[in-house]
Amino acid sequence: MPKIPITGLTLKELEGVLAAWGEPAYRAKQIADWVYRKPVQGFAEMTNLSLALRERLAGEFLFQSLAPVKEVTSRGRNSTKVLFRLEDGRTIESVLMFYEKRRTVCVSSQVGCAFGCPLCTTGACGFERNLTAAEIIDQVLFFSRRLRAAENAVTNVVFMGMGEPLVNFDAVWRAIESLVSPDLLGLGARRITISTSGIVPGIKRLAQEKLQVNLAVSLHAPNNALRDKLVPPNRMYPIEKLIPACQQYYEATHRRITFEYVLIKDVNDSPQHAIELGNLLRGINCYVNLIPVNPSDYSDFRAPPRARVEAFSELLARHHVANTVRLRRGLDIEAGCGQLRARSAEGHRPAGEKPRSRPKKPRASNPSDAARKRGESSSAPGSRGHEKRHRRGDGWG
Ligand code: SF4
Repeated sequence: MPKIPITGLTLKELEGVLAAWGEPAYRAKQIADWVYRKPVQGFAEMTNLSLALRERLAGEFLFQSLAPVKEVTSRGRNSTKVLFRLEDGRTIESVLMFYEKRRTVCVSSQVGCAFGCPLCTTGACGFERNLTAAEIIDQVLFFSRRLRAAENAVTNVVFMGMGEPLVNFDAVWRAIESLVSPDLLGLGARRITISTSGIVPGIKRLAQEKLQVNLAVSLHAPNNALRDKLVPPNRMYPIEKLIPACQQYYEATHRRITFEYVLIKDVNDSPQHAIELGNLLRGINCYVNLIPVNPSDYSDFRAPPRARVEAFSELLARHHVANTVRLRRGLDIEAGCGQLRARSAEGHRPAGEKPRSRPKKPRASNPSDAARKRGESSSAPGSRGHEKRHRRGDGWG
């Protein structure tokens, strides 16, 4: 029988296994403490367990379900990206990012992604499979052990790596429950962020869960005509369904929603787009992260000039939509989702499978025309809303 990852078990399930082996229940907490909280690399280092138990654990369980195969650190040493090989030979990537007092791990939730968003390298590589809860947890623990060896700890986890987390809901949620369990990693739920391309049923399901994690939505366009091109899931879950689902999430959790808006030169960065976005979001308890697009060999997209980014931000603020321009970290380490994997020999798809063609830049739509078609108005800024603009210099990207 193939070994299963130890992190695939809840504490209760581990207690059950140990009870069947004739071990006392407290052994499960001892093992969990080693796995989740100590900078060890295998069962052999669990020195408060008998040698026989350590050997039996090693014989039946994997200590970790992934192994690092490539690692790159940004020039400023504020982010490190790791390419991991999974047990089936497939590869994923994760990033550790340092901010003032935060150490944030960005995890993948799928191998590849089925949605094919043209601004995402992962999307260009296609979907291979969902990750298991253990594979998600083990990405966090890889960095956690490294930090603990330096007497530090992971403070935040964001699901912004490869894949759409809300279409792998069960595994993602099971991983989150382990990450927040006081008996396991003990991270605060409010330190976890799920980033989605706008999967409405997943947002609604998230609103019903007890743990109050943060929700970030990749909006990237203020109207359906443009969002259909930039974020293809919009064809299933258009803006008129997405925004009410976000409001429902806010009402259920009182967690302010983040909208991610990647700014792409001559595609979605015009003053008209900013006004339309301001009208769409005004009055919603949210804030917008404006992210100049990461340059990538896999698309023609380029970031707008700084002045245009600033003008976009100012226009949103005039509509009382809180926003910030995020730092573009790790440009020298291919920090955009999926870039390291796509470039690495280890990231190639299995022999015989063809990569999808490079995404092309969609033509900019006229937001006013699109709004007119749907009977929406582009009213003058400042007529309603209550948000104050604030800036946070703590973004990633
Ligand atoms: S942006 Fe997200 S949903 Fe779109 S292809 Fe990339 S991973 Fe998938």
